Amino acid sequence: MTGPQPFRRPAIDLAGAQLEAFLVTGAANVRYLTGFTGSNGVVLVTPGGAVFFTDPRYEIQSAQQVACRVQVVRKGGLLPAVAAYAAKRQIRALGFEKDHFSYQQHQYLSTALPRAGLKPVEDVVLKQRMVKTDAEIALIRHSVLTNSNAFARAISTIKSGVTESETAAEIEYQMRKFGADRPSFETIVAFGSRTALPHAHPGPRALRPNELVLIDMGSSQEGYASDMTRVLHLGRIPRKTERMYRAVLEAQLAGLDAVRAGVTAGSVDRAARQVLKKHGLDHAFTHSTGHGLGLEIHEPPRLGKGDKTRLEAGMAITIEPGAYLEDYGGIRIEDTVVVTPSGCEVLTPTSKELIAL
Ligand code: ZN
Ligand code: ZN
Repeated sequence: MTGPQPFRRPAIDLAGAQLEAFLVTGAANVRYLTGFTGSNGVVLVTPGGAVFFTDPRYEIQSAQQVACRVQVVRKGGLLPAVAAYAAKRQIRALGFEKDHFSYQQHQYLSTALPRAGLKPVEDVVLKQRMVKTDAEIALIRHSVLTNSNAFARAISTIKSGVTESETAAEIEYQMRKFGADRPSFETIVAFGSRTALPHAHPGPRALRPNELVLIDMGSSQEGYASDMTRVLHLGRIPRKTERMYRAVLEAQLAGLDAVRAGVTAGSVDRAARQVLKKHGLDHAFTHSTGHGLGLEIHEPPRLGKGDKTRLEAGMAITIEPGAYLEDYGGIRIEDTVVVTPSGCEVLTPTSKELIAL
């Protein structure tokens, strides 16, 4: 047992924001601040400290995981307990996470605390989460290795007649065998022309000879996500597919090359997009070049057109350009990387050669 992580204070100046307390309700934000991995917990942050509220199912777990004060709410729900706590301390200005607070919750608190001003707060914790600590990078690295190991094991089962669903099941089975908690998102497996759907849902479609296979998979291990896309081909690779693959790979390498601390997220997107334009495939690249990841599979920054966010050392992001031709097929190549002062470290060890089965 390593004991609970120290409580991380949210990056918000309460006094400057004219707040007496800040209620954090987003599950990943709560986990980031407290280390709590359960499903029902909120944190009330005050200038003097923080109180974590949970229900009795998590009494033992929160004692093991949470370093700040814990209040186990035995009946009535967490929000009434927060309201009672705030009323007792005469909190007059209470901030809430506007992206993680429902209309119903807002209605409840404004009725329960008629004299307290409720103020919406931007997702400051999510922003804080963009730059990872060394410990978080180690966890992401571990998740990436699990993911690549699962991929290597699972692709040996891909053959003519196997369905997308069976392949997705094999991938997720292998992930867990290698130590993942779960997939970090719904595994994408697409065969043939269905590879042109960037977010294809695996179905009963069976693989036929001379078809493309696109796999986009991520593991979640100790809460941290990985994300990788690779393309395989059953049988002899047609010239058109080969050319398209080369173009996307060149774009992916150009994207990786553009990454370093200080550049804008948009400039990385531009580097990848320009390569596809050169190959006449820019119209076929219909999404952004990448995204941050960590406790959640999609976090800021978004590496999209014109995005002005400056990359910083320690950000974990994906680089994943693609090209999709309706009724033909799609190619996407995706790695998980960490931004460094002079470039990036590609964490994904899996080869990027087009795999012929
Ligand atoms: Zn992906
Ligand atoms: Zn991704």
